[in-house]
Amino acid sequence: MGLLSKVARSTADAIVPPLCLNCRKPLGSHDALCAACWRQLRFIRAPLCDRLGIPLPFDPSPYASGGPIVSAGALANPPDWDRARAVAQFGPVIRDMIHAFKYSDRHDARTLFGRWLADTGAGMLCDADLLIPVPLHRWRLISRKFNQAVLLTQEVSGLTGVPADPFVLQRVKATPTQVGLTEAERRHNLSGAFKVAPAARARIAGRNLVLIDDVVTTGSTAGACARVLKRAGAARVDVLALALVTDDSRIGR
Ligand SMILES: [Zn+2]
Repeated sequence: MGLLSKVARSTADAIVPPLCLNCRKPLGSHDALCAACWRQLRFIRAPLCDRLGIPLPFDPSPYASGGPIVSAGALANPPDWDRARAVAQFGPVIRDMIHAFKYSDRHDARTLFGRWLADTGAGMLCDADLLIPVPLHRWRLISRKFNQAVLLTQEVSGLTGVPADPFVLQRVKATPTQVGLTEAERRHNLSGAFKVAPAARARIAGRNLVLIDDVVTTGSTAGACARVLKRAGAARVDVLALALVTDDSRIGR
């Protein structure tokens, strides 16, 4: 940290007392959550499905060989990516934190989100070659001013040293909102929405990629991205997100 940013930081500490990133209750340190908000987060821990990243309701360890566990759902309907990991199941606290991060200029959760992603994705980041944010179409980028996935990717890159490349994947079709669509409709809606920049093909051929987004809802967006990256020659495409909507985390959205 340079001298100027140190000065800026201590000035900020003096002016803005540390607050819980969710409920704004005063705290002892910056970039943290209060105990009450922390308890409401449903962090995803083992046992979980290696392909979908969903928590599994049982501990299969006495039966498993110690290798990765794959859920029946992933075996029946395999995703287009290799592995997915998310920090938490989608729920009120993580939803509000992501909403504040996405739609306001409040980026104070950024540091905490970066640390969470780096921890959660440690197993896929250790031999990853490139981090790729899920892109926004430029019209949406204009209305929102920044792509939250790019900011998250930069944080993870800074913590892990794995390079980030926001120019590999392009969103070439502005897709209407996915809310309320069936799986088939989402897939149709997204077909042709993403492409790999021709100049970037050589950078991803034979490489292990980690695709980063804030929320994985049905997986159709991440799946569409993974398909074009694989088609362009990527060796492995893993997905890393802050929140994952699971069957028991749907809260009426
Ligand atoms: Zn709080």
